[in-house]
Amino acid sequence: MFDHVRLICFDLDDTLWPCAPVIRAAEQAWYDWLREHSPRLTARYDVEGLREQRMALARQQPHIAHDMTELRLRSLAPLLAADGYPAELAHAASDVFRAARNRVTPYDDVADGLNRLRRRFVLVSVTNGNSQIEHTPLHASFDISLTAAEVGAAKPDPAIFHAASERSGIALDGFLHVGDDPQRDVAAARRLGLSTVWVNRHDRPWPQALARADLEIVELSTLVEQLL
Ligand SMILES: [Mg+2]
Repeated sequence: MFDHVRLICFDLDDTLWPCAPVIRAAEQAWYDWLREHSPRLTARYDVEGLREQRMALARQQPHIAHDMTELRLRSLAPLLAADGYPAELAHAASDVFRAARNRVTPYDDVADGLNRLRRRFVLVSVTNGNSQIEHTPLHASFDISLTAAEVGAAKPDPAIFHAASERSGIALDGFLHVGDDPQRDVAAARRLGLSTVWVNRHDRPWPQALARADLEIVELSTLVEQLL
């Protein structure tokens, strides 16, 4: 089924590590830092209130909505300024968020699976999120790592797959994409004619309206066995 594959793209969040606990911890570290350095701001906004500000900005400025870091910076800076704090504090807070955002814990089967696949395939990480792969436990697992912020559009936009093709010199018909999101991963990759794998670790139902992935897996080891 996958004889043509030369390159494998991997989504990161909820494909290679659980996302929600990391975001929760990063938001808390960020907010704790703000409480210490800008107490007038945190007296006005709780974590949820600041998230609403970010979402409102994303709706007003859709051209930066794919860039989570920029969105967090740009929504916070004016709020800090309004409370009499230097807007640059937003950058220091962002560093705190990003450091915590990189403290991911890959699923048990991931590091070994990637190491084995890498002997035969070019491996590329493609994420809509703002983790920095070089600062995560998977820093040595990929040949190329791309983010929506870098390529200027989030999946399901095809930009990140085209960027992977340009950077690797491998045509899209040699790609396999592996991800957890039916729309942003599987449907997006299928539209470009890529082979697809749906990672369904939590027994979710597949959306009726979408064509299925070529393979559905619970654990990465299943894919490794198929490919090697
Ligand atoms: Mg994901």
